[in-house]
Amino acid sequence: MSDCKDLLGALSEYLDGNEQSEMCATLREHMAGCDKCRLVVNTAKRTIELYRGIDVVEFPVDVKERLHGSLREAWARRAVQAESRRP
Ligand SMILES: [Zn+2]
Repeated sequence: MSDCKDLLGALSEYLDGNEQSEMCATLREHMAGCDKCRLVVNTAKRTIELYRGIDVVEFPVDVKERLHGSLREAWARRAVQAESRRP
């Protein structure tokens, strides 16, 4: 199974709507077996839909970068938590 952090690149394409790409297939496959990525990606998608809903046609690059930053943080944090839970 792919590492969650390896999927950040795919996430970008996924959120851009390139859902047919190979990267996105990998992401979807991974999401099927990984609750935290499903949560993160769904949250990101909702955020973007929210932006689209308020009349922003082009998703602002800085927002996307902030989103990536917070996703990276969330993933890093959860990875650390998962590590520390080990006996
Ligand atoms: Zn994952």
